Amino acid sequence: MKTYLRLLSYAKPFYKFIIPYLLFSLASICFGLVNFSMLIPTLNLLFKTLDTAALQKMAVEPHFDLAHKIDYITSLFNYYLSNQVLTNGRTGALAFVCGVLVVSVMCSAIFTFLASSIIETLRTGTVSNLRRELFQKISSMHLGYFSNERKGDIISRITVDVREVESSVANTLSVIMKEPITIAFYLGVLIYISGKLTLFTLLIIPVSGGLIGLITKNLRREAREGQDSLGRMMSILDESLGGMRVIKAFNGTGYIRRKFFDEDGFYTRLIRKTSIRREAAGPTSEFLGSLMIAGIILYGGKLVLDPNPELDAGAFLTYVVIFSQVMRPAKALSGAFGSVQRGLASGERIFKILDEVNQVTDKVGAVPLADFSDCIELKNVSFAYGKSTVLHNVSFKLPKGKTIALVGPSGGGKSTIADLIPRFYDVTAGQVLIDGKDVRDYDIESVRAQMGVVTQESVLFNDTIFNNIAFAKTDATKEEVYRAAAIANAHEFIIKSEHGYDTIIGDRGVKLSGGQRQRLSIARAVLKNPAILILDEATSALDTESEMLVQDALAKLMENRTSLVIAHRLSTIQSADSILVLQSGSIVEEGTHISLLNDEKGLYRKLNRLQAF
Ligand code: ATP
Repeated sequence: MKTYLRLLSYAKPFYKFIIPYLLFSLASICFGLVNFSMLIPTLNLLFKTLDTAALQKMAVEPHFDLAHKIDYITSLFNYYLSNQVLTNGRTGALAFVCGVLVVSVMCSAIFTFLASSIIETLRTGTVSNLRRELFQKISSMHLGYFSNERKGDIISRITVDVREVESSVANTLSVIMKEPITIAFYLGVLIYISGKLTLFTLLIIPVSGGLIGLITKNLRREAREGQDSLGRMMSILDESLGGMRVIKAFNGTGYIRRKFFDEDGFYTRLIRKTSIRREAAGPTSEFLGSLMIAGIILYGGKLVLDPNPELDAGAFLTYVVIFSQVMRPAKALSGAFGSVQRGLASGERIFKILDEVNQVTDKVGAVPLADFSDCIELKNVSFAYGKSTVLHNVSFKLPKGKTIALVGPSGGGKSTIADLIPRFYDVTAGQVLIDGKDVRDYDIESVRAQMGVVTQESVLFNDTIFNNIAFAKTDATKEEVYRAAAIANAHEFIIKSEHGYDTIIGDRGVKLSGGQRQRLSIARAVLKNPAILILDEATSALDTESEMLVQDALAKLMENRTSLVIAHRLSTIQSADSILVLQSGSIVEEGTHISLLNDEKGLYRKLNRLQAF
């Protein structure tokens, strides 16, 4: 119930539509009822051989009396109908009845349509609110979250699960709001026709309700398992599509197919089982409904056939017809119960994301970093991914305008340090200080606004080259973008490509070479013109010629800027003001290129020798 109410809270902006919805529904129910309640007087008048005197008695206009509203309505109808019989004969009266029927069916249909359009606004709006909040939450999560979650599963939650909520919870909204009113109205009429028969009916309803409940038990747990499995399938799909080149090169198609087929097999078995059970609910309630009608015919028939009948045949027939109409909303309600279970399972999966705690957030009273003016300092920093500590007591200072290079064996923790400065992660112990103030005291966006990051992996979007460069500065002019591209040595290949700056580069830039992708990333950083540059193997994918050009461009860009450069190729960072050699999460050497080379037993000298060789 809590999950359902929470899902409903996304409909809050649309609560204003509820009253008109209820009014339209009420009107459609009333017009629907008119159709059936015309049955008794019509049957009585047309097929009972009432003599003219009796008809004339009925053809007197009734007076409204609050205590006998329904009697008034029946008498009013009788008044008009008997007048019709007297003036136009029974055939003419039949035409009158048909006319009333057409008008009331039309009115009922119009109001049903109006009510459904309101529900559509409510349904689509509610689901859109939910989807937006989910994306907002996902895009604001700390980076560590994405290392622990499967991408495919997140995609599945934001698409398939939201869709499931839409088709079940939101759709059942209308059923839950409208059908109880319909049932109440119809029951009211049934009680009016025969209280005794209705009491008998009410005694059977809970029995069939209980039976349906038994069938739909466990539906929610199974639905959740199904959605989890779909999430895993999406992950396999995502990995397979992303790594098709390697999969084919290693003849790994058999492996991924098996993985996918296994998951699909599990999903299919589960869904088949639950769907069959869910489908069983329909025919069962159908059968139970017929049983109930048979019971009513038997019991009600007895009342009609009694020597002193409590019910006349016309009323009894109307009763059965109206009762069969109560079955429809009752079935819709029991059906909605099953489908709500499915929606709730998806709702729980969605709320798991929404309830995730973001570990990197602005603290209360965070101040903006207006201008970087002095230095970045790591003070006794330790960091752990979960339980494994990868940085141990690291301390260094990066003064404004200087360049520090991080080098060392793979897995030493270089990229992790680079991630701590823009607060992609928060330190486990120690502090990262910017201008003497803990980075956690600043507003995150203002810290990141001062930084430009170029990583080993170029992150590009399936968009035009222009938009990819202008990503961080959407208001950039053409000239600014061209200049940035020229500095990054990218302008030439861009203007040679099919549509120049308007060329679409495909998913993650697949239509470009590795070097071209990297140069676009550099152009993006150049355009942002940040005070602090973080270059993580930024030039590793370039050929020697373009690397030299980009190095030159970067050198110009880095002038009077503060840079943290990570490089495996030591030749690229010789001019750094200071080089830190990182091994197993600790700084083992520190100095300039020359001073480190002079240390005969040093790791830097060893690495340099190996590379020269
Ligand atoms: P390379 O030069 O190969 O890029 P690096 O010096 O940049 O390596 P890091 O990427 O900082 O090293 O990794 C340091 C350690 O942290 C490694 O042992 C790595 O396995 C671990 N590590 C990195 N990212 C994660 C993560 N998201 N979750 C858990 N452990 C991680």
